[in-house]
Amino acid sequence: MFMENLDIAKFGGTSVANYEAMSSCVNVVTSNPNTKLTVVSACAGVTNILVELATGACNDERLEALLAQLKEIHMQIINKLANKDELTAKLDKHLLDIKNLALQANMESSDALTDRIVSHGELLSSTLIVEVFKAHGFKAQFFDVRKVMRTDSKFGRAQPLVEVIQSLCDEFLAPLMEQDCIVVTQGFIASNYEGQTTTLGRGGSDYSAALLGEALNAATISIWTDVPGVYTTDPRLVPHAKPIDELTYLEAAEMATFGAKILHPSTLVPAVRRGIPVYVGSSKEPQKGGTWVRPTTVSHPAYRAVALRKNQTLIVLASPKMVGASGFLAKVFGIFAKYNQSVDLVSTSEVSIAITLDAGTNTSGANSLSEQMLQELREFCHVKVEHNLSLVAIIGNEMSKVPGTTTKAFDAIANYAVRMICYGASNHNLCFLVDEDKAVEALVDIHKALLE
Ligand code: ADP
Ligand code: ASP
Ligand code: MG
Repeated sequence: MFMENLDIAKFGGTSVANYEAMSSCVNVVTSNPNTKLTVVSACAGVTNILVELATGACNDERLEALLAQLKEIHMQIINKLANKDELTAKLDKHLLDIKNLALQANMESSDALTDRIVSHGELLSSTLIVEVFKAHGFKAQFFDVRKVMRTDSKFGRAQPLVEVIQSLCDEFLAPLMEQDCIVVTQGFIASNYEGQTTTLGRGGSDYSAALLGEALNAATISIWTDVPGVYTTDPRLVPHAKPIDELTYLEAAEMATFGAKILHPSTLVPAVRRGIPVYVGSSKEPQKGGTWVRPTTVSHPAYRAVALRKNQTLIVLASPKMVGASGFLAKVFGIFAKYNQSVDLVSTSEVSIAITLDAGTNTSGANSLSEQMLQELREFCHVKVEHNLSLVAIIGNEMSKVPGTTTKAFDAIANYAVRMICYGASNHNLCFLVDEDKAVEALVDIHKALLE
């Protein structure tokens, strides 16, 4: 039965940006008889507009301008469809709801309200692509993912409740996979037990597709985007970047964690749990091929890729009491945990510890550095905070086992001031923390030295 080979196809914002792009998605989905479930992001640009509306900082003029932009983006798709009036009425209903919520945000914004507002992006794109499937003569049905995608109540960056998602998918979604009809649903959005809308954090649609893939026991998860696969680095930053045919889960996860935007950092987690291969390709140019991400690969190069992660915050904590004392690190990390701050890199010296923080990946884009936390740290050590830093990460294999691996990497970064280095925790990466304004140059040089 085809369920055994089920493929889930996820399309990102650019892939559903307009009627033509949506038509390419229809082509991709219908070319593979195993693709029964389509997961879509909001049309390109829409989430950014909705996030701005949710800030509560838009005056009347700005609010109307943003609503007009939303109308235009969706109308250029609706204008190509037969049931224009019916769809325009649906769009207007969404816009009215967005407007009312944005006015509410002007009184008092919150992460919960932001999630309600941004969810309209995915609800609209999924509604419209169903019509595009039909316009091309294919059967398609809309499915509200909030019926099955259950999360906790951390609005803006909610955590999926995997077992509940599994049983809800068994009940509501799996039966639809048996029907002769493409099911279209939303990435990124979800709901908590109270039925309130939550989101998985920016770029979270990849993660949604993987979670649904896990719950439905899919054979493959396909991430269709605007580049033909995962490259040795962001091809927009380095035109010499080369496509990679296959990657291990570990390599891809390291790349995603260290800033390769092509995959949301959590995407591989559900895939790994079930051993589901993940394919990455271009919806516009599927014939160009793509990247398979699997448990193992034939090649294991020492240098596989380079990634860049901006917006890093460095916190240096110094205390003479640290000498020979035990429990200092435990105390520091306890405070980070209390304030829910995710620590990325760590390096220690005799009297100090340097930590980098993951600056704001929640849907509202809020920088999560808590002043209260810094105050608590200041009570027992000297605290220095530096912003505007970027991480340049080299991702590879067995790095610490091959002599000379680091020498080449250090030579490549010889012309840059490096604020912090992280190496040794994993055999798969070597990271440099550099000034934001030098980061792209450093990335280009490292790529040239190690991968070209
Ligand atoms: P989508 O909207 O489809 O989710 P994203 O913009 O989130 O697309 O991710 C695709 C983008 O990721 C590409 O356009 C590219 O600029 C960027 N990117 C970053 N690192 C890489 C990489 N190593 N390989 C390919 N693309 C990358
Ligand atoms: N639309 C959401 C965003 O822009 C989710 C996604 O695209 O994956 O972040
Ligand atoms: Mg993305």
